[in-house]
Amino acid sequence: MTTPDHLLAIDQGTTSTRAMVFDREGRPAGQAQKEFPQHFPQPGWVEHEPEDIWRDTCSVVEGALAGAGIAAGRVAAVGIANQRETSLLWDRESGEALHRAIVWQDRRTADLCDSLRRDGHEKLVQARTGLLLDPYFSATKIAWLLDQVPEARARAERGEIAFGTIDTFLLWRLTGGQVHATDATNAARTMIFDIHRQAWDQELLDLFDIPAAILPEVRDSNADFGATPAGLFGVPLPITGIAGDQQAATVGQACFTAGMTKSTYGTGCFALMNTGDEAVTSTNRLLTTIAYRLSGKTTYALEGSIFAAGAAIQWLRDGLKIITAATESESLARDADPDQAVYLVPAFTGLGAPYWDAHARGAILGLTRASGPPEIARAALDAVCYQTRDLLQAMTADGAQPPNTLRVDGGMVANDWLMQRLADLNGCTVERPVVAETTALGAAALAGLGVGLMSSLDDISRTWQSAGQFDPVMAADERDRRYAGWQDAVARVRSGD
Ligand code: ADP
Repeated sequence: MTTPDHLLAIDQGTTSTRAMVFDREGRPAGQAQKEFPQHFPQPGWVEHEPEDIWRDTCSVVEGALAGAGIAAGRVAAVGIANQRETSLLWDRESGEALHRAIVWQDRRTADLCDSLRRDGHEKLVQARTGLLLDPYFSATKIAWLLDQVPEARARAERGEIAFGTIDTFLLWRLTGGQVHATDATNAARTMIFDIHRQAWDQELLDLFDIPAAILPEVRDSNADFGATPAGLFGVPLPITGIAGDQQAATVGQACFTAGMTKSTYGTGCFALMNTGDEAVTSTNRLLTTIAYRLSGKTTYALEGSIFAAGAAIQWLRDGLKIITAATESESLARDADPDQAVYLVPAFTGLGAPYWDAHARGAILGLTRASGPPEIARAALDAVCYQTRDLLQAMTADGAQPPNTLRVDGGMVANDWLMQRLADLNGCTVERPVVAETTALGAAALAGLGVGLMSSLDDISRTWQSAGQFDPVMAADERDRRYAGWQDAVARVRSGD
């Protein structure tokens, strides 16, 4: 008999699905990843096909086990991290989705959010959920599905339909339809969950007209979430960790004490600052969210979410076609003329924190006849740095100490030029960890805590290692001058809402 001494993480992201096997010291042992199609049925709409996600999940799990060279019997537990807020409904009987999942970036419910805001409901939403009335969160997406899919509302009221974010959908499928549950971090992003009472909120359910019968049970992030049937991967695998991807990355970055901050640069960018057991209410349009809930104890965070970070690089590749791979953005940016003040505001799907302008759209400003692909590529990378400054400044304005170190992760942090620029334009040290896949690591760590393979957060902190840091060298006046140009560019794309 071999001992189950490995952890398996499923990291279901916005553009790809990944599985990773870790040993009990948190060292990666094998991984597999698959990109999947994005659907844009109308401008501002983004959908995912749930069957793509499910099929890829099974295949990357097999791939990661093969890559690690271990049988499923060596896996002590499975953890799930997922793209957050993305919502779907499915038939409890057949397990079939009623419609494609509506992705977090989707803006189709912007008008509904505007009218709820005009009617004065944002205060209640913020007080209960820590969120702002924006199409980003699940509630209005769920309402749209219930209203637009024929029969959905009536069937939901009869208890025939289940709602889930992606973690919940995967858990349902992974347990053969046995478990309909989520964790507190994912629930915290739905806009119908009271983060203080840790319960679904009836008043908000009434406001968004969502029947309670569709909701999953909310558990700790290190709870027992059931197990896979033996038929799926050969042996039953316990599922003992779930968190939204940004919260999982916060765990993977070992940001366990108040003030520690991580920033993830993938499709979007998400900065989370641990605020301990205090749920800090933001007066600067940041979000208050649950960082993790372990064995009944909740730790909160302040969060700034930016919708387009790597998405702008994808657009350089797929839209403008000035690069053929994301990595080329680095050499192109290095070639840019330092004196050209070209700004790119990547408001493709509106602006997130701290602006929350669903109607803003993107722009490139400051072009001259000398401008070309290098300046535009640099502007796309600069936008990531300026948006980070927007968030860090808002956190400081909410009373936090400015972090002197930012722990970073996500696909974009492989770009050394960007990392140095981030340090320069923010005036703080940027630290990149040895294990760049912090989301998967965090999911594995939660599963490890849940199954008892890890005994405390200290065990996780001990495994975190820096792979090097970037210190700011840009003069403060240059940093501020460039940032003022960014603020001006943003002002020009605002919709005036
Ligand atoms: P997600 O989890 O949101 O799918 P990832 O963390 O996998 O995203 O990061 C992928 C994103 O990072 C893509 O948007 C891609 O364009 C961008 N990216 C990847 N490598 C680089 C690079 N070297 N420079 C700039 N951007 C990059």
